[in-house]
Amino acid sequence: MEQHRAIVVGGGIGGLTAAVALHRNGWQVTVLERAADLAPVGAGIGLAPNAQRALDVLGLGDRVRELAAWQGDGGMRAPDGRWLARTNAGAAAARFGGPLVLLHRATLVEILTSALPDGAVRTGTAASLADPGDDHRPARLTTPHGETEAELVVAADGIRSATRHALFPAHPGLRYAGCTTWRVVIPAPATPFAPHETWGAGRLWGTQPLKDGRIYAYAMATAPAGGRAPDDEKAELLRLFGGWHHPVPEILAAVDPAQVMRHDVHHLYDPLPAFHQGRVALLGDAAHAMMPSLGQGGNQAIEDAVVLAHHARSAPGFLPGRDLAAYTADRLPRTTAIVRKAARTGALTMLSARPAVALRSTLVGAVSRFGPGLVLRGFDGITDWHPPVAPAPPA
Ligand SMILES: Cc1cc2nc3c(=O)[nH]c(=O)nc-3n(C[C@H](O)[C@H](O)[C@H](O)COP(=O)(O)OP(=O)(O)OC[C@H]3O[C@@H](n4cnc5c(N)ncnc54)[C@H](O)[C@@H]3O)c2cc1C
Repeated sequence: MEQHRAIVVGGGIGGLTAAVALHRNGWQVTVLERAADLAPVGAGIGLAPNAQRALDVLGLGDRVRELAAWQGDGGMRAPDGRWLARTNAGAAAARFGGPLVLLHRATLVEILTSALPDGAVRTGTAASLADPGDDHRPARLTTPHGETEAELVVAADGIRSATRHALFPAHPGLRYAGCTTWRVVIPAPATPFAPHETWGAGRLWGTQPLKDGRIYAYAMATAPAGGRAPDDEKAELLRLFGGWHHPVPEILAAVDPAQVMRHDVHHLYDPLPAFHQGRVALLGDAAHAMMPSLGQGGNQAIEDAVVLAHHARSAPGFLPGRDLAAYTADRLPRTTAIVRKAARTGALTMLSARPAVALRSTLVGAVSRFGPGLVLRGFDGITDWHPPVAPAPPA
């Protein structure tokens, strides 16, 4: 059978998952990644049961689940260490039908690339869209090696997607969310700790264990766009969080300043008119960059990939006008709602006026008295998602 060609622009989590999903459905897939290698940023990523179920479709869900490291208690704290809301790994897993898994991004990339044929990923290859194509002509891309054609182009080129801009030049684009983030992966502190997220005035810190004995620590604070510490980012973190409860000071003491990554938060608050045009499907941050406050950006990219492959499953009978419109119809409303919810949650976590922070702590505490399940309900409708099921072939 003649194989139909899909080109994925961008070898991040979304692009690699799309490549695996399309390859399993019979497409001949090439991933073009502009970076010299696939080494992702040295940070963790939380995959919730929704993304794990999507990965089940690809036969990869259990490889992620076995990396679950959170056991016992955890929850939300105040900077002085008071618990505002407590929950535990068992309650979270029971609520969502599976564990919340924190893994290193490099591990996820390894799991995804292991499911691709040799040579499917071409690094050091930036691609730009020359023509999105339509039902009657292929899409065309320009690469450093010349022009290339494909029946399907997956634009997974990230938050600053040039493909998005080429397809929807009138869209207002990214908005600065008013805050910046820091991330680091280091060996676990010697003194035991419970996984936590701690909310202060205009600041947040989280510490989560990884299966390999390290921890993933992340922080967020309100800040003007483009700011950088006058000395180094470890010193900035010490100024902002050095007086917070255990294990924050112990972690900061152990951090090498060169390991601390800082990124401003931007999001696509205004939805795109569609996630496709011609033979091009946008996916992941290229389509719906969101604040990290729900930890769903990567999860949604993985959902996108599996839903896209579901609609494009019969490569020979692929009709872009019909199949990619079905992809947009499935994904745009859901991801728009999650972008908005992430923005609302982000605004709540970044409250800085003292009375508002005190009221927030009281409310979180009051809600948690009704049981840990309630604290987790902000994720209702997100983590309980199930992938679409392919119709049975005609008898
Ligand atoms: C602080 C922070 C914490 C987060 N925590 C979580 C979390 O816990 N859980 C979660 O699900 N999400 C989380 N996210 C969001 C998540 O990181 C992103 O949503 C996810 O990485 C998006 O994946 P992507 O594949 O769409 O884009 P990217 O991972 O950005 O990949 C895009 C790729 O495209 C490549 N590229 C760009 N242009 C071109 C071109 N012209 N040609 C070829 N290649 C190109 C880039 O080099 C890059 O490799 C977090 C984000 C932040 C900032």
